[in-house]
Amino acid sequence: MESRGLVLVAEDDAAIAELVTLYLRRDGFGVRVESDGRAALAAARQVKPVAVILDIGLPLMDGIEVCRALRAEGDWTPVLFVTARDDEVDRVLGLELGADDYVTKPFSPRELVARVRTVLRRANGPGAAEVLQAGGTRLDLGARRVWTEAGEVALTSTEFDLLAYLMRRPGQVFERAQLLSAVWGYSAAAGTRTVDVHVAQLRAKLGAFSPIRTVRGVGYSAERQ
Ligand code: CA
Repeated sequence: MESRGLVLVAEDDAAIAELVTLYLRRDGFGVRVESDGRAALAAARQVKPVAVILDIGLPLMDGIEVCRALRAEGDWTPVLFVTARDDEVDRVLGLELGADDYVTKPFSPRELVARVRTVLRRANGPGAAEVLQAGGTRLDLGARRVWTEAGEVALTSTEFDLLAYLMRRPGQVFERAQLLSAVWGYSAAAGTRTVDVHVAQLRAKLGAFSPIRTVRGVGYSAERQ
């Protein structure tokens, strides 16, 4: 699976850092965790993350100082602040540090990952926004989000990649081995059951709105509309 880039997580609460790491990895991001402000600043300079999730209450150097130091160096990497107190939010937003967004503790890790995607999309500018539609399913390639007529559907990164691959080539029929290679980067020797399992998961999540057709004896295809 193609990685979506490395995110630096600066968080001194180990349990939160672990949870955030888990969700980011699951979403295809690489993760580097630092538990104090100075180490976070050093890591940001060293590994050049695509985004930083920055807890404000960090030891040695707080999150605001870390962000200020980066900006002073001309580093405008997207920063998503994590705050434990509502009054900190005003402070962050008033500083014009180019804080791209913030979340308040306690937050849902899924929500945090969605925010990371949003700040990255904003940072990458327009152009990635392509929306595909078929069989009652709508897929936003840039935002990596999927909706059916029943509402938004949470897909794993691989499920999304598989669905996007098929929907970008409507009507075209793919053998399992082709999908395994294109979406997973695996050779068919690894076994093509993986494809069937993921198609079954997609169908379970999309329900009656799934655009995926089984072509007997061949493989899978996405409907045209
Ligand atoms: Ca903290």
